[in-house]
Amino acid sequence: MKNFETLAIRTQSERSQYNEHSTPLHLTSSYVFDDAEQMRAMFSDEVEGNIYSRFSNPNTTELIEKMNLLEGAEAGWATATGMAAVFTTFAALLSSGDHILACRSVFGSTHSVLTKLLPKWGITHSYVDLNETEKWEEAILANTKIIYIETPTNPAVDIIDLEWLGTLAKKHNVLLVVDNCFATPYIQQPIKYGADIVIHSATKYLDGQGRVLGGIIVGKQDLIDEIKLFARHSGPALSPFNAWIISKSLETLAIRMDKHAENALRLAQWLENHTEVELVKYPFLPSHPQYEIAKKQMRSGGGIVTFVIKGGVEKGREFLDKLQLISMTANLGDSRTIATHPASTTHSKLTEEDRLETGILPGLIRISVGLEHINDIIGDIEQAMT
Ligand SMILES: *Cc1c(COP(=O)(O)O)cnc(C)c1O
Repeated sequence: MKNFETLAIRTQSERSQYNEHSTPLHLTSSYVFDDAEQMRAMFSDEVEGNIYSRFSNPNTTELIEKMNLLEGAEAGWATATGMAAVFTTFAALLSSGDHILACRSVFGSTHSVLTKLLPKWGITHSYVDLNETEKWEEAILANTKIIYIETPTNPAVDIIDLEWLGTLAKKHNVLLVVDNCFATPYIQQPIKYGADIVIHSATKYLDGQGRVLGGIIVGKQDLIDEIKLFARHSGPALSPFNAWIISKSLETLAIRMDKHAENALRLAQWLENHTEVELVKYPFLPSHPQYEIAKKQMRSGGGIVTFVIKGGVEKGREFLDKLQLISMTANLGDSRTIATHPASTTHSKLTEEDRLETGILPGLIRISVGLEHINDIIGDIEQAMT
């Protein structure tokens, strides 16, 4: 078995007759058959091959095979966005009457899928706080089919023990689905701890340069077969162009994540010593409540740092307005450092009480630490705080 970096670089679709070194882009909606017999055999799944790009394309196949190897999964599927990956997983694996048990701090659109869309088809959910581990077991109902979590969470960077949760899911015969967007497979591989399905928004670190949208689902073969059936006929396919971009990006995932994490740790340490900062949260700071778990299941603390600036909502907004280098944008996992203020933006529609329950204090700032020189990142934050 080759190492992570080698797999990320050397997993490649077969060369064409032109002998290209780097995988070319396959922009074609369909594929021709050699004869009527081959066409018949492919349509009846007797032989593998490309039929139509809603089903498969050499660029998406390369990306999926690479992600399977990087996450340690049996099989996978690629979707147009991270949300298409989330929705496809639920739609393919659940039926009317099923229940999802999720961590309260799920991504905003995932929350909307759970609360506004799935109830239309009789699929219910309930939330448990990621930090209240004693409440998870009793929250599993007779009709619970999926446990759905993110770790680290957004924006509070809370962490749950994947090994413990994997064992709990197995004990109750419930599928464990992990959105591994914040960590990426380089930092954390949930399948090792018993996850059945791992989901990614490839839009974030997997692309890593804020260019394209994409989603990935990997996991157990029988579950991915269900997902394939749903996706082939409902059509959330990833475009070959985006697959090509993301597969190329994965070649540098390891080196990028090491640098994101190095910069993030240095920023977190600097913030911890700043007088205008009330609280800093970063998985690899010893002050993080789940530091020991983070050390056990993560290679590094990743690229997201959150901190609470003294002075509440007003001060948080003022801080953002003063930034000169760091971008104010909704994305994360970009080579450019990004700052957001969840209380006045992504989570402004929640009640104050719900916000606090999800760990979103009024002065909370989330930094997706980029790949610029760390002195320039800290310099911008320093000048914006004074
Ligand atoms: C961005 C994000 C998603 C959704 O991904 P899109 O590619 O924007 O559809 C899902 N989960 C997490 C944790 C995210 O950060």
